[in-house]
Amino acid sequence: MHVSVLGAGTMGHGIAQVSAMAGHEVTMRDIEDEYVQNGLDAIERNLQGGVDRDKVTPTEMSETLERISGTTSLEAAVTGADLVVEAVPEDMDLKQDTVSEVESLVGDDTIIASNTSSLSVTEIMSALDDPGRGIGLHFFNPVHIMALVEVVVAEQTDTDTLEFATEYVEGIDKTVVEVGDSPGFASSRLGVALGVEAMRMVQEGVASPRDIDASMELGYNHPMGPVELGDVVGLDVRLGILEYLREELGERFRPPQILKRKVRAGKLGKKTGEGFYVWEDGEIVGVSEDVMSR
Ligand code: NAD
Repeated sequence: MHVSVLGAGTMGHGIAQVSAMAGHEVTMRDIEDEYVQNGLDAIERNLQGGVDRDKVTPTEMSETLERISGTTSLEAAVTGADLVVEAVPEDMDLKQDTVSEVESLVGDDTIIASNTSSLSVTEIMSALDDPGRGIGLHFFNPVHIMALVEVVVAEQTDTDTLEFATEYVEGIDKTVVEVGDSPGFASSRLGVALGVEAMRMVQEGVASPRDIDASMELGYNHPMGPVELGDVVGLDVRLGILEYLREELGERFRPPQILKRKVRAGKLGKKTGEGFYVWEDGEIVGVSEDVMSR
């Protein structure tokens, strides 16, 4: 099958990689040669890492790379595609324009998927003449490691489209969770609910960030506690999602003051060196001083 991936960024290059590893011919499109090349380089690095850890054979690596081509031309990228997965930035207008342009270039049977993490797939696909061919495929970062894909069924998604998408996901060796098109789908809604309660607990002085995280890591076997995860994702990103979920689902997603203060102060987590924790070289070296700790 021919899979076309639009966007060669964090998610796009990963989706291209796992599709090619499963034997599909892949075309990856970005808007500048440099971005396309960065995506191709990232795939090569991932695969080399796999070879170094004996997870991928050198032959698998070279065959996978041979199946992927990069381009800046949308037409070249989608012509002949059975499946187009858009992984362009999270912007409704951009996504609607993208899927609509794709539809004008592909045949009637091409399935068009969006990797949006929070926007309404129903709304994105309403830009199509045939919205029945549209569906959400919510991958997780890093794509080549994470086992889950949420298959987001929009209001207009046809049964054939859902079947096709499910088979594709199983074919790339990932597990499908089927969800209706509702804000935060299943994963973000639950993950953010846990994260926001953890922040409220820090704010109320119930326990320190380290102890809250340890309770989930050791008591519930989560690989990473909710406070640390917020720092890793980025507190600005968390705040944005919370504001959106609050608007759509109600006050239980109201962002706590402590989160707003952090974001206003530019303490965005791992990427800025401080959030709820203090970070150095990608590692936690302490707890932020303005976090009340027990
Ligand atoms: P990113 O910024 O890393 O990559 C987006 C890429 O799209 C950029 O390289 C950009 O140049 C390119 N682009 C912009 N306009 C384009 C166009 N018209 N055609 C082709 N490429 C275009 O972003 P990302 O993190 O990969 O996110 C992409 C999508 O995936 C977003 O909808 C995001 O919400 C979703 N998502 C992200 C994550 C995550 O953890 N990063 C997880 C799940 C879903």
